[in-house]
Amino acid sequence: MRAEDVRRFRDETPGCAEVIHFNNAGSSLPPAPVTDTVLGYLRDEARQGGYEAADAAADRISAAYTSTARLLGAADDDIAFTDSATRSWQAVFYALRLGPGDRILTCRSEYASNAIAYLQSGADVEVVDDDENGQVDVADLARRIDDRVKLISMNHVPTHGGLVNPAEEVGAVAGEAGIPFLLDACQAIGQLDLDVTRLRCDALTGTGRKYLRGPRGTGLLYVHPRLRERLEPAMLDLHSATWTSPTTYRVEASAKRFEAWERSQALLLGLGAAVDYALAIGLPAIEERVTALAERLRADLGQVPGVTVHDQGKRRCGIVTFTVEGVPSGQVKQRLGEARINTSVTNRTSAQYDFSSRSLPELVRASVHYYNTDEEIRALVEEVDRLR
Ligand SMILES: *Cc1c(COP(=O)(O)O)cnc(C)c1O
Repeated sequence: MRAEDVRRFRDETPGCAEVIHFNNAGSSLPPAPVTDTVLGYLRDEARQGGYEAADAAADRISAAYTSTARLLGAADDDIAFTDSATRSWQAVFYALRLGPGDRILTCRSEYASNAIAYLQSGADVEVVDDDENGQVDVADLARRIDDRVKLISMNHVPTHGGLVNPAEEVGAVAGEAGIPFLLDACQAIGQLDLDVTRLRCDALTGTGRKYLRGPRGTGLLYVHPRLRERLEPAMLDLHSATWTSPTTYRVEASAKRFEAWERSQALLLGLGAAVDYALAIGLPAIEERVTALAERLRADLGQVPGVTVHDQGKRRCGIVTFTVEGVPSGQVKQRLGEARINTSVTNRTSAQYDFSSRSLPELVRASVHYYNTDEEIRALVEEVDRLR
């Protein structure tokens, strides 16, 4: 990515003039076209009426599906929009109707909301070992497969570290065994170049506000036809199904069977604008810059006495986690915030398996995006150095 491109992306991001934003794994700064799309559409609703505005925007709404399908290498019919990654994930998970006697294989870096749903289901949850790099051990995964395994479900990138799990190799094992593979790509989408055919996942979930730079309150879902044909959603309405006679209904064939009728069209269009913005830059270019900036940040933080970087993985992404000796992570975040540097804190209630097994303390999470700069990284590292 050329310096002049980065300058333009920053010019198109009003927040870049206000703060140094290293909380992109929490919620990114949106580019102006995203905010303008949302506000413009709300004005259309106010002027025309909500239903009338939606009719007038039908082509743009449908284009959001096409763009998202392109982002993932999927077909339009495989895409659904929801209001969060968690809602997308739950729509698939609860449709599987797993229970006692079933086995779910997941990874050590698994996210809280997913793990809570596993526990609620009553199925046996098994955490696959990590390998020596701290990523999911695909050989251990393959060893655990038997007839009772009904789901392989894990994250591509965890919420609390720079690790990138070998999702393609997991997909190959799942595909071979004919077991559904649900991939939580919430932190991967928008920073890594994803392709559902390469990943061989049956379902993939993502959020709008994180690396995609979309508005809050948006989520997306990909479901391959081979999975969705056998999954009836746990909840249906007159959009996800049709009431065909007083005693019958027919479930929608496309992934829209996982959607709800009522939703914010403004936010949906905003998410579509965010996807288009990312596609115009190109995911390989985004991935390359995010990865390089994060490696620089890790190296520079590693030079500061008393700072420990905690990221694992053979392959790593834009999320950087660290601790400062003698300064609680909450205090690090607060002091950085006073210098207008946004980070966040991640703790064990987000990822019990990993925090417990590695005995991790609360971590400061500094997540970089392509619009961050070397100067911003320097400012963060200097501020951390001052803190000690
Ligand atoms: C943030 C996050 C989620 C949840 O996303 P929401 O949009 O908040 O529902 C799921 N998985 C991972 C790994 C996350 O970091």
